[in-house]
Amino acid sequence: ETPRLKKPDWIRVKAPTGDGYRATREIMRENRLVTVCEEAGCPNVGECWSQGHATMMIMGEICTRGCTFCNVATGRPDALDVFEPGRVADAVMKLGLKHVVITSVDRDDVEDGGAEHIAQTIRATRRKSPGTTIEVLTPDFLRCADSALETVVAARPDVFNHNLETVPGLYPTVRPGARYFHSLRLLQRVKELDPSMFTKSGIMVGLGEDAQAVRQVMDDMRAADVDFLTVGQYLQPTPKHHAVARFVTPEEFAAYEKAAWGKGFLMVSASPLTRSSYHAGADFERLRAA
Ligand code: SF4
Ligand code: SF4
Repeated sequence: ETPRLKKPDWIRVKAPTGDGYRATREIMRENRLVTVCEEAGCPNVGECWSQGHATMMIMGEICTRGCTFCNVATGRPDALDVFEPGRVADAVMKLGLKHVVITSVDRDDVEDGGAEHIAQTIRATRRKSPGTTIEVLTPDFLRCADSALETVVAARPDVFNHNLETVPGLYPTVRPGARYFHSLRLLQRVKELDPSMFTKSGIMVGLGEDAQAVRQVMDDMRAADVDFLTVGQYLQPTPKHHAVARFVTPEEFAAYEKAAWGKGFLMVSASPLTRSSYHAGADFERLRAA
């Protein structure tokens, strides 16, 4: 086990407080919903929740994969809860969200990977909150028929997000069970199925990748017509997880951001505390207004 690196000053996590934060937590509890914000111990939870922005995690708290950066438990999940799409829709309405991010664990145990469940959640949320923009952050549907992805796209989320998470060379140690080119192709297929849908992907840095490989991932994403990019610092959730290889400096993040704009992404967020869903709503609003 490698010793843990000390966090630099630029990784500052504010303790979550405030009425907005408490109100969000209350509504999540009442509706028995799980959020990534809490599960992943996200450093932005105070800020996001006090602004009524949150990322819901559906299809249970147990994942069939075991990515080494992720704090979600691996194992045999429970059966899908048919009432969950309705509870998500209720919570989104009560929270009055402008933009919601809906993500899930990976369900290799279900034939369609949970695609129909995700589609139902999108439709239920749309019905109750027609003005809310919906972003899904999906699993890779690696073992599913093509129709699984088509089911999700047909439910017409505003943003289709699927994270590549890291550079291809680190897949065996960071994202075992996933395939880099499968995930890339999935993003490309979304665009082919519905060219009007925004596609989005992201990676974490500080896992041991080099800058050249990160730039190659950006090129791969653009070749697959990915519109939005997020790049953030990986933080180790517990000592059992993949070690932080290094803390990427704010200057290096700025260089990634500049490179990404130059490659033609429509939206880029690259900073130490960037997360896949950080400021997703505000950024999307800006883009639509432009
Ligand atoms: Fe939640 Fe995303 Fe905000 Fe983190 S960045 S608190 S996961 S909405
Ligand atoms: Fe975590 Fe997603 Fe990997 Fe499951 S598939 S272990 S939820 S990152």
